Amino acid sequence: MNIILIAPPAAGKGTQAEMLEKDYNLYHLSTGDVLRSVSNSDTPLGKKVKELIDNGNLVSDELIMELIKDKINSLNNTNGIIFDGIPRTINQAKMLEEIINIDYVIYLDIEKDIAMKRSIGRRTCPKCNKIYNIYFDEINDNKCYNCNVELLKREDDTEEKFNHRFDTYLNSTLPVINYYKEQNKLVEIKNIGTKYDINNKIKSVINKG
Ligand code: AMP
Repeated sequence: MNIILIAPPAAGKGTQAEMLEKDYNLYHLSTGDVLRSVSNSDTPLGKKVKELIDNGNLVSDELIMELIKDKINSLNNTNGIIFDGIPRTINQAKMLEEIINIDYVIYLDIEKDIAMKRSIGRRTCPKCNKIYNIYFDEINDNKCYNCNVELLKREDDTEEKFNHRFDTYLNSTLPVINYYKEQNKLVEIKNIGTKYDINNKIKSVINKG
């Protein structure tokens, strides 16, 4: 079972993907995490990727596809993949469908001002990538519960960068949502309630089959 989670920035894709990963024994493929790990390498590619993501710009379709193709091919012992962060362009949607069959495309719809608050309050564990939020979660001494390391704020989680990422979403990713809607593949979930409420709504769609 392969699932795409599609949503505006900071809508909670990563959090939902973490929960679905455990619920269904899926592999959580976050393209943001893949790119952040590339950006940590001290290479010309690492520097280029860091500049793009720190400023809220998309990397090229070709690069992201090349990076995830290897990942998809190397996976075994999983019931499928949750795609978190891809496709972000129509071109990526078309390239993805050439390499893998998608069972569900789940669109998490959220108001811009709520997403902005989530972005600004987001903190991430640099070791296990677990996502926290200073407004919604209990956080002890700014440390990850699993790894006991200091949580970090992403470079692109500022108000200005969030606004830019949201504009990029409107220009490049909204057409992808319409693309799946026209194919009757889109399941729209209002991102209202706790993360558990939203997880339950997603699971009821999946469990219905
Ligand atoms: P995310 O963690 O999903 O918010 O992604 C963080 C950043 O990584 C985005 O703002 C983009 O700069 C980059 N990125 C993630 N996924 C993609 C993608 N599918 N295509 C292009 N750029 C991406």
